[in-house]
Amino acid sequence: MKIINTIEEINEIINHLKKQNKIIGFVPTMGALHKGHASLLNEAKKLSDIVVASVFVNPTQFGPNEDYNKYPRSLENDIVVAEENNVDYMFVPSTLEIYPTNTLTTIHINKLTNIFEGKLRPGHFEGVGLILIKLFNIIKPNYAFFGQKDYQQTLVVKQIVKDLNVDTKIIVCPTIRLTSGLAISSRNTYLSEDELQQAGILFKAMESAKDIIEKGERNRSNINAAMRNVLLTNKNIKIDYASIVMAEDLTEPNIFQPGDITVLLLAVYLGNTRLIDNSLITFY
Ligand code: AMP
Repeated sequence: MKIINTIEEINEIINHLKKQNKIIGFVPTMGALHKGHASLLNEAKKLSDIVVASVFVNPTQFGPNEDYNKYPRSLENDIVVAEENNVDYMFVPSTLEIYPTNTLTTIHINKLTNIFEGKLRPGHFEGVGLILIKLFNIIKPNYAFFGQKDYQQTLVVKQIVKDLNVDTKIIVCPTIRLTSGLAISSRNTYLSEDELQQAGILFKAMESAKDIIEKGERNRSNINAAMRNVLLTNKNIKIDYASIVMAEDLTEPNIFQPGDITVLLLAVYLGNTRLIDNSLITFY
């Protein structure tokens, strides 16, 4: 595996690969690589000749009071994980390489970014959009791989790629979980031993919603209440949102119909750690 730090150097490599008609698979990450990232790298390897992973903690997607400074950084371990999972090129640019001091362009995404994660983290998806457009222009991947773990992000990315005619196919991969059901996340390192035990409650909340849907429940408020009731059995939980929404556009009909493809969206604080999760459900 080669580690590349500059845009100039990765440009040269990508140009060379393109001349050889190599299929490039790209996995953008913020590092602190874990089994969730590894699953994306493995999917990338299946569909591509060459796998490029980026490790960049993107400052523009963090709000002023968020965890940019304390976000886990573990480049040495990331190199091991990337090598073990067949990455060919690891792109690790500096902040200045990506955002020279004279950067003036921002991007704005309507509708999808004013709700749920976008509403609670103003500017977050604009930062995500900006870094991804930059990385897509640099890497020029045939495929880019994202985790369902960040469900709203997958919708935003697909929308940007469509709206801006980016010639990259977006592949969404399933969420990798611990046996407790907790979705693996770099931010899980913020949890104490005790909190880590408790964090399976997000999965339990989604299971309880699934249970009542299987028994015939169609009413959004009742389904949301089922999730809230489970979550609020833990006094350390503060709910940002726990909602069943249409998977396509995150809208919230009062009653769901047979054939509706929906997603349970959760964001909660467990102590001081913010956790998100989701699960897709089709109504029959
Ligand atoms: P991050 O480094 O947290 O920005 O994540 C990089 C990519 O890995 C994103 O597309 C995430 O959705 C994905 N990802 C993170 N955690 C998981 C997981 N547990 N399962 C699958 N994909 C994940």
